[in-house]
Amino acid sequence: MPDLIHNLEAVQERIAKAAQAAGRDASSVHLLAVSKTFPAEDVRAAHAAGQRAFGENYVQEAIAKIEALADLRAALDWHFIGPLQSNKTRPVAERFDWVHSVDRLKIAQRLSEQRPENLPPLNVCLQVNISGEASKSGASIAEAAQVAHAIAALPKLKLRGLMAIPEPAGGLDEQRVPHRQLRELFERLRGDGLELDTLSMGMSADLEAAVLEGATIVRIGTAIFGARDYSH
Ligand SMILES: *Cc1c(COP(=O)(O)O)cnc(C)c1O
Repeated sequence: MPDLIHNLEAVQERIAKAAQAAGRDASSVHLLAVSKTFPAEDVRAAHAAGQRAFGENYVQEAIAKIEALADLRAALDWHFIGPLQSNKTRPVAERFDWVHSVDRLKIAQRLSEQRPENLPPLNVCLQVNISGEASKSGASIAEAAQVAHAIAALPKLKLRGLMAIPEPAGGLDEQRVPHRQLRELFERLRGDGLELDTLSMGMSADLEAAVLEGATIVRIGTAIFGARDYSH
């Protein structure tokens, strides 16, 4: 899969350039390869090219892929990034290493209760609905601090930081605005005593804006795997 390997290198190059422009070390930005709708074999090929962390949005699809790649389980980090209904939390608590899309306390409580005892705490991010966010899910900025403190107290979760999916915007300056708002909230919460180290923001179209505003995980699908086909 020469395209995939070329694309991965090109994305790493975009991250390195943006980090340099921001005066940041490129190693402070982690690449999450979003493999939703793409087959397990693409994940295998990306892993062979050095990629470790993969993001998935749909529970059933993800479980099938995790099972197909069971031989690589210890070498991969699986991140759940899609909308999560409360009746679908158990397989996520049992199978994933991270959940970026925790948008309310009830979901966090279920994940904590359902996380198997023999596994380390599940790494989670609180998804925040920065104004006008396309998906409409996420805690509001106003309620984020209260929800974050409650999540941080749950025994089988480790609250790592914040995640957002800003509305698509045209130019770099415009793209930076919601990422900056998320970073400012992140800094306020850290000032409040929460030990957060993760800002999950930036997708194929706004990676540079996110890195300039402090992203520590960028979630990249299209620029690595190509355009998604939802027809089947
Ligand atoms: C699909 C998806 C991505 C990747 O988006 P691209 O534009 O393909 O890079 C990132 N984050 C979330 C939450 C997604 O659902």
